Amino acid sequence: MEKGSINVKTENIFPIIKKFLYSDHEIFLRELISNAVDATQKLKTLASVGEFKEELGDLTIEVILDAHKKTLTVKDKGIGMTAAEVDQYINQIAFSGAEEFVEKYKGKGDAEVLIGHFGLGFYSSFMVSKKVDIISKSYKNTEDAYPVKWSCDGSPEFTINKTKKGNRGTDVVLHINDESKEFLEEYRIKELLRKYCKFLPIPIQFGTEKVFEKLEGEITEDGKPKTLEVEKPRIINDINPLWKRKPAELKDEEYKTFYHDLYPTTFDEPLFNIHLNVDYPFNLTGVLYFPKVRNNYEMQRNKIQLYCNQVFVTDSVEGIVPDFLTLLHGVLDSPDIPLNVSRSYLQSDANVKKISNHIMKKVADKLENIFKENREEFEKKWDDIKIFIEYGIVSEPNFYERAEKFALFKNTEGNYFTFEEYKDKVQTLQTDKNKQLVYLYATQLDEQHSFIEAAKERGYDVLVMDGTIDTHFINTLEQKLADTTFARVDSNLVDKLIEKEDALPPVLSEDQIKQLKELVQEQVDKNRFHVSAESMNPDDQPMLITRPEFMRRMKDMAALGGGYTFMGDMPEHLNLLVNLNHRLIVQLLDEKDEDRRKSLTKQMIDLALLSQNMLKGQPLTEFIKRSLEIIK
Ligand code: ADP
Repeated sequence: MEKGSINVKTENIFPIIKKFLYSDHEIFLRELISNAVDATQKLKTLASVGEFKEELGDLTIEVILDAHKKTLTVKDKGIGMTAAEVDQYINQIAFSGAEEFVEKYKGKGDAEVLIGHFGLGFYSSFMVSKKVDIISKSYKNTEDAYPVKWSCDGSPEFTINKTKKGNRGTDVVLHINDESKEFLEEYRIKELLRKYCKFLPIPIQFGTEKVFEKLEGEITEDGKPKTLEVEKPRIINDINPLWKRKPAELKDEEYKTFYHDLYPTTFDEPLFNIHLNVDYPFNLTGVLYFPKVRNNYEMQRNKIQLYCNQVFVTDSVEGIVPDFLTLLHGVLDSPDIPLNVSRSYLQSDANVKKISNHIMKKVADKLENIFKENREEFEKKWDDIKIFIEYGIVSEPNFYERAEKFALFKNTEGNYFTFEEYKDKVQTLQTDKNKQLVYLYATQLDEQHSFIEAAKERGYDVLVMDGTIDTHFINTLEQKLADTTFARVDSNLVDKLIEKEDALPPVLSEDQIKQLKELVQEQVDKNRFHVSAESMNPDDQPMLITRPEFMRRMKDMAALGGGYTFMGDMPEHLNLLVNLNHRLIVQLLDEKDEDRRKSLTKQMIDLALLSQNMLKGQPLTEFIKRSLEIIK
């Protein structure tokens, strides 16, 4: 037996491990199993180059829980370690890096997260153990490759001695400490295995019926080697997950099945998927899904799982993928994303930027492909995917440049147009006298019905803009599209929205106009309505309520949050337009009976309100009464 002291630069490494890794204790299992996977992969590599000539045999990694003895064992059949290797790899821990790192980030906000991701490898097992044993037998047949047992109780002192071990490989036995009893619970270990190991490339088994190799020194009362009774063996992982396979070999169904494997509680089918497969200038694989969004408020971030060589790392991918893509679902796997650094660093890391840009480009390519190859299909899905694309357009200038080829407008007739197609369609009719192209849109087909009809009568087209972020989207487009503005159909009289020639001269004198305005003003709430007399088409309605575009947009933005919140409480600003050229308005002035004049004015205001579903309660009751009177 040999004793020694772990060669760390400071005595304090264990307190550091214990103290700083408090948030992410559970990662120890990921670290140990990753080591077991690495050891197994190394052996497979040696076999493939002919340096290891024996049978590889079954390489399943076993995770064995013994709640009675309070141990958790990770057992692999990989390359194993000789005594010299244990000394080199385990005792001489190159901890200077970690130490420096911990010093540097001590007390900083995201230290927790980053140390969690840093993964101190094998030593993270001391977060949950009072003692750790490594029992290892190297694949080598040399004299010095006898099996060894290394033990350490969490102080820098360790023991190492020769031992007996039949099979090649390494057992790491954790004697779970009292504070970490949760890791002696079967459900907890299963949960961790599901979380971190679901897609590891070597089979992992939890629990087995077969008699395990004698655990060192354990003899039962009747003198036989002690064995563990555990539940039936079950491989818990898929060693060849879908994203690692070739897209050409995969069927649509398989992508869907995989989606449901990833999100067992989501019943909707994904809209479509994007398979990423890059090996230069960085390595990146993965599958991203456009999820079906039932309503825009249930958008969830952090549904993308990030893996590093099939080891689960995190499901918070902000900073790694462009913000609007964090709304997608799926898996990304890259050994090139630095995981041992803070988020703020991630965002400025050149490699991460490249990866992020690449993902965006791939997503755009895929969308463009679907659009080109199957426009009908694309149009069918448009209403569901538009939120993602609009968000991308609003937030990523680079994405806009690609998306402008396939992003669609939908009009009130249910037809879809690319930006270019739409321009061609409406340019001739909807260009005003100042050479501005005006795109009309509606947000509520029912409520804005009369305005939509009025626009259509002029031969104009009306877009549907009823999405959550359409106000932002419109603002962005106005900056991108030259000489183009958007106007909601009810923001003004249609002839004012697209002004063609100078207004018709009013048939009334200035005096009459003044009189008329006063007549109307008396009947409305001045805080709510701004009354104006307009020279409109004689065929338009006598009175019309509009919502000025600018104020309304500010209010919409306020409702979405983002800088305009002071607008949120303001009452809605409405214009009441009186059509000076309308026959009924002219007649109103000729009416000699004062009561009747008032009553007719009120009737026309109410009709304007009614046409926008704004007449309710008592005013509505009064309106009906008055109407009956008039009919009488
Ligand atoms: P890392 O895995 O990041 O290198 P670790 O502290 O986890 O750091 O492990 C240090 C080294 O110990 C590994 O690089 C490997 O050489 C060796 N090692 C750890 N676990 C095993 C194992 N199960 N089988 C063989 N070698 C191992």
